[in-house]
Parts: sequence; structure tokens; C-alpha cells
Amino acid sequence: MLSQNTSSSDSSQTQTPIYDVLISGMGPAGLTAAIELINSGKSVVIITNRSQQFLRVQGISLSEEKRKYLADMISTIDKSIMTENDKKFLISLNQDITISLKEIEKFLYRQLLRHQTEGKSISLIFESELKQIDLKKGEATFGRIHADGQSTNHDLKSLFFTHLICADGKNRHALSLVEKNTGKLINFTPDPNSSAHHVYHANVYVCAKRKDNKPFILPKLDFNSVVQEGLLSFTSLNRRHLRKHENEGTTTIKFIYATEVPLYFRDNSNEIERKKYILEKAKETIVAMLPPENGDIEISVAAPSKKYGLAKDKLKLTFFESHLEEADQVIIQDLNLWNATVILSGDNCRTSNYQLGHGVLDAFSHAVSIGKLLNKEIDPDNYTGMVKALNQKNSMRSQLFDAKKDVAAQALNEKAERVAKSFPSMLKQSSS
Ligand SMILES: Cc1cc2nc3c(=O)[nH]c(=O)nc-3n(C[C@H](O)[C@H](O)[C@H](O)COP(=O)(O)OP(=O)(O)OC[C@H]3O[C@@H](n4cnc5c(N)ncnc54)[C@H](O)[C@@H]3O)c2cc1C
Repeated sequence: MLSQNTSSSDSSQTQTPIYDVLISGMGPAGLTAAIELINSGKSVVIITNRSQQFLRVQGISLSEEKRKYLADMISTIDKSIMTENDKKFLISLNQDITISLKEIEKFLYRQLLRHQTEGKSISLIFESELKQIDLKKGEATFGRIHADGQSTNHDLKSLFFTHLICADGKNRHALSLVEKNTGKLINFTPDPNSSAHHVYHANVYVCAKRKDNKPFILPKLDFNSVVQEGLLSFTSLNRRHLRKHENEGTTTIKFIYATEVPLYFRDNSNEIERKKYILEKAKETIVAMLPPENGDIEISVAAPSKKYGLAKDKLKLTFFESHLEEADQVIIQDLNLWNATVILSGDNCRTSNYQLGHGVLDAFSHAVSIGKLLNKEIDPDNYTGMVKALNQKNSMRSQLFDAKKDVAAQALNEKAERVAKSFPSMLKQSSS
């Protein structure tokens, strides 16, 4: 069909192109939905507001299941013809604790292009956005976005589709056009599990060493989360990495430590105080998780990797509100009135952030479900419930706190305020 970066009507001035599926947005949700659908023979067009560059660096912690999902996408390719970038990505899937969002997106994009060269029907339209949706006709109008972020009405083009997948993240741009067209409003309700509003995070790469320089004796379980003084802290070492360290008789462990911090921390402390405080907290967290035979340990800030250059040794603070909301419906259809259905995927049906929601994991699961839905392996009536159940299953909160859920919720709700008040004195103690 069409090649990338062309608009559909470029290929024919007279005929409006027809696709089975139109996807708005090319993040993890849009890319994986496209791969699932072209694999089952659907013709797909993606319209994205961005260029072909992938720039988002946030580190994504992928579950074992989702690492396998990605690796399986290229498991049938002969290693001798696999691209160097795909080989590197496979290695990174095997050994890296977190993988940057841009590397995941680039990998998925490469798979789309591979499918395209194999003759599958995928069209990619960059730097453009939808302008109008008509579900009765199954027609969409779209236009290019110019350098100033604006689009004009004179370069509009149109295409026909049977299914629209809204995968443009929490912008929910396509959905707003659907709402305009149908007069149907989708409600976004706060997630009842999301009790921690206005939470701020500090992230730091740390290195732990036994003071007696002996190899670590590691815990049997994942080395990741604790609730201290009402605030959640976690590390990014999982069972796989622990066993690797154990086999190698590791004397130092490098990992990411992340902790919630009160607002005071951002506004009223300096870099030295912050670093000192975070290292103390990291030490408490690690000591609490390690078997006591390890004795005393030393903790220092570690450079994440050489490529970080001057950013090494830096403590990174991430501030955002952890307010989650989810859509009351994730499939919109009226088969008596419309020729097209609308399906929400990824952050479009649930906004997430790195702590409370596993947005990328959700996006992959949604894509698999969408594949099954459009291949009629899932009844549309069950789809909303199924997606909600998947979101729930993948939410980090429920993963981390299976056993400690109530304690965590209570701690976050009732004690966070007290912690915030006592925080100035905690900082004072730590800097004296
Ligand atoms: C700091 C940070 C850390 C995170 N860590 C994790 C983690 O460890 N694990 C995890 O699972 N998740 C994590 N997340 C969340 C994760 O990044 C998101 O949940 C995930 O990217 C959602 O994917 P998506 O495809 O639904 O939406 P997005 O990634 O937002 O993609 C939407 C796409 O649509 C495009 N778009 C937007 N508007 C339009 C428009 N009008 N027209 C056309 N295209 C449009 C955008 O350019 C983008 O490419 C993290 C997020 C942050 C901010």
C-alpha cells in the first residue's frame, strides 16, 4: 500500500483510500495495535502528530511477560539477517533493568517497517492529525501540522475506515472528535486504587557495597518495595537480576532507587541535603530487604552509565501528580447507526504514570486484546470489562502491594501529611 510519510490521497488524486483500521497516535499503544492487526491481515493507517524521531527517554520497567512479548516479535527472523539494532535490543531486553521508551518505540517502528517491506498493508502519516470523524460514513479528514504547531484547512485529505483506534495518549484528540461527531461523552472516573495524589518522586542511581567487602547474600524474593513513614520507596532489582548477581558473587550492586518525597523536599532543600537524605533512605530500604548476615553496607550515588556524561552523580527529581483516571467505556459502537467502531487503547482509556500505572504494559495488553476483538475472538460486550481487568492486573500498585495493599493505602492516606510536617526536622537531622 502506501509508503511512510505520504498522505493517503498522494497515491491517488481521484480515489479516497479505504483501510480496515485507522489509528490515531504512534506511541506504544498505536505501534503494538498496528503490529497485531497487520499480522492478522488487516490494512492499517497510523496518523501521528510527530516526526519519525523517537526522543522520549523515560526508563520503562518491563515485566518478564512483556519482554517475551517483544522478543517473540522477531523470534522467527533468521539471526544472520537480523538488524544490528534489533540484536542490541534483544540483548537489552535480556539484561537491562529498564529500557528507555524511545528504544521500545524504535524497535516497534522497525518491526512495522519490516512488515511494510514484506508487503503488508501499513501506511504511516507523520506530522499530521485528524480533523474530523464521521462514524456514519466511516470517513476521517486529516491535515498536516506545520512548524508552528498549527494546521490549515486547505491541505485536508480524507480516508475511509471501519475501525478507529484512539491511541494518542492522554491528549485524547481522536476521542474528542468522536464525541463531537456522536454527541456521546465518555466519562473519565478517578481510579479508586489511586489514593496518592500530589506525590513527588526522587530517583537516583546508587551503588551498594558490604563494608567487609564480601559478596552479598541476597534475598529470596524481589528486591523492590517498602513503605517507610507513609511514603513508598522501591528499587529496580528483580529476581532475574538478583540470581545473576548471586551467581557472580557480586560485591557491589548498582540499581535505581526511587522514593516518594513530600513537596517540601522540592521547594526547601538544597542538592547536598537532598542527596544525603536520599542515600540514607536508600540505605534503610536496602538494609530492610537484605538478609542480616550482610552486616553494615555503604551506599553511594553511582553514574547510571558513561553516556550520561555530566549528568552522572545527579539526583533526579520527578514531580507529578499521581492522579489516575479511567474511561467508563473503551469501545464505542452503534452498529445500527454507524459504519465504524471506536476503540480506546493505552493512556487513552487510562492515564498512568510510572509509579502507579504500568502504562506501557497496559498498552501492549490492550493491543493483544484489540487484535482478538477485531478477529472476533472476543465478544465486544465483554471488551470493556476485559480491558479494565487487564489495567487492574497490570497496575504497579496491585503488583507491588498484593500483600501490603491495605497497609500502603492507609499509610499513604493517613500518614503522608504527618510526614510532610515532620520532614523539615528529618532533613535537619540528616544534614547535621
Ligand atoms: C517519567 C515516566 C516514567 C514512566 N515509566 C513507566 C514504566 O516504568 N512502565 C510503564 O509501563 N509505563 C511508564 N510510564 C508511562 C508510559 O510512558 C505511558 O503510559 C505510555 O507511554 C502510554 O502509551 P500510549 O501509546 O497510550 O500513549 P503515549 O505514549 O502518550 O503515545 C501517544 C502518541 O500519540 C501522539 N499524539 C498525541 N496527540 C496526537 C494527535 N493530536 N494526533 C496524532 N497523534 C497524537 C503522541 O505524539 C504520541 O506519539 C512512564 C511515564 C513517565 C512520564
